[in-house]
Amino acid sequence: MEQNLKEFTIPKGYPFEGKSLDILISEKEIKDRIAELAVDISERFKTEKPIFIGVLNGSFLFYADLLRELSIDFEVDFLKIDSYGSATKSTGTVRLLKDISANITGRHVVIIEDIIDTGLSIQFLKQRMENAGPASVTFVTLLFKPDVAKLNFPIDYIGFNIPNRFVVGYGLDYDQKLRGLKNILAFREGDV
Ligand code: 5GP
Ligand code: MG
Repeated sequence: MEQNLKEFTIPKGYPFEGKSLDILISEKEIKDRIAELAVDISERFKTEKPIFIGVLNGSFLFYADLLRELSIDFEVDFLKIDSYGSATKSTGTVRLLKDISANITGRHVVIIEDIIDTGLSIQFLKQRMENAGPASVTFVTLLFKPDVAKLNFPIDYIGFNIPNRFVVGYGLDYDQKLRGLKNILAFREGDV
């Protein structure tokens, strides 16, 4: 995946205008992979009505694009956590900023994440969900950094394994910026 990466130059009017980033995953690759994930997830839950919990903020585009490709009915809910602050490295502690409103006891819960880096956030979420006594908890993440993540449980659905680089675009931010860019982009060494 790292070979011959195409370059993306941040357009006029955006923060970091003119800066070059590497395109790790293109808009088309994201779309195609989401279609595959949607088939698998629809099949898995065809006899159940799952509740999809989006982890804000970074997952909002992935969440919307994935859910509209499903061929099953579902419910939605959201929570918001923070482990990064405004920096590009995990702070090592997870804070719950907004909780879900649904009662998930006895329900099939599907957590939708943008990216798993250290694994701290997803571990926190697993614990929190399981405390509520759901029928099942399934984890979906668009991006996974396998060289960093330390997890003692499997992630059920992974969009892409990526190298240990800081990425933005397709919902992911740098200090609340650049979420609207359509590809998954990696900053170059020393840039952020
Ligand atoms: P973890 O707790 O697994 O270390 O980090 C998970 C959260 O940190 C993600 O949901 C995301 O908000 C943020 N994060 C981790 N890696 C990146 C990255 O490369 N880019 C951006 N924009 N956010 C990241
Ligand atoms: Mg996040």
